Amino acid sequence: QWIFLNDEYVSKENAKISVYDHGFLYGDGIFEGIRVYSGNIFRMEEHMDRLYRSAKSIMLNMPYSREEFNNIIVKTVEKNEIEDAYIRVVVSRGVGDLGLDPYKCPKANVVVIVEPLAIFPKKLYETGLEIVTVATRRNRPDVLSPKVKSLNYLNNVLVRIEAHLANVSEALMLNDQGYVAEGSADNVFIIRDNVFYTPPGYVGALEGITRNAVIEIAKDLGYEVKEEPFTRHDVYVADEVFLTGTAAEVIAVVKVDGRTIGDGVPGIHTKKLLEKFRERVVSEGVK
Ligand code: PLP
Repeated sequence: QWIFLNDEYVSKENAKISVYDHGFLYGDGIFEGIRVYSGNIFRMEEHMDRLYRSAKSIMLNMPYSREEFNNIIVKTVEKNEIEDAYIRVVVSRGVGDLGLDPYKCPKANVVVIVEPLAIFPKKLYETGLEIVTVATRRNRPDVLSPKVKSLNYLNNVLVRIEAHLANVSEALMLNDQGYVAEGSADNVFIIRDNVFYTPPGYVGALEGITRNAVIEIAKDLGYEVKEEPFTRHDVYVADEVFLTGTAAEVIAVVKVDGRTIGDGVPGIHTKKLLEKFRERVVSEGVK
């Protein structure tokens, strides 16, 4: 396995970064997760757009042009010779002193890791997930925008801890007003009377690339899709619920806070969507 680390390709054992890196000291940095399906990098441009927007928002100087960065990612995938993989791109503020001051970090650290997939067990795609809602709230958009995919994932980690304590593998966060925002690493959709609903960005969710793809696919299939805020009640009484994310893809949710969703099995619309999604991911891609 070859890991790209600041202009070099190194082995996993040699992929090391200073303890003075501000990504480590302060979570000061950004990242992306991208999928490779049958050798095609899925929606790479959209992921890179989001990475560069995140960088701009937190004033992180990217050490590579878009074109250079694209080439690095393509080359790292090629070098690892894997057809189906998960790509992790990390850009930290870089090495500085122990103080917070990002202006003392002269150069960002860049890491690209390509690995075989580590997703939910296959069986869960057939049975559907049981999830809960948790007390951890999505950070307010005016504090640190959830649109920035930053290395500050403590909220999301706390969500996973609460999920673990409840014996489930994922959970939903609400925003500070009690509207459903998203999962720890995925966006959420509900379906009611053939209409798809997903929280709009201002509720406090990452602008998921899988979410966007799913909105397109649902519309292509003839469904109406509404970006509207909704509450836990709306989730409980939905016909179907599912999560979307680069790692999770599209996965049905069959129980939320002990309430069975629909018939307690992945619903017909979710299944239809997942099927189309799987078709779409292999037929699209750069390279
Ligand atoms: N929400 C959060 C907090 C995430 O970390 C992710 C993962 O990338 C998503 C949603 C899903 O976004 P995408 O579909 O772009 O992977």
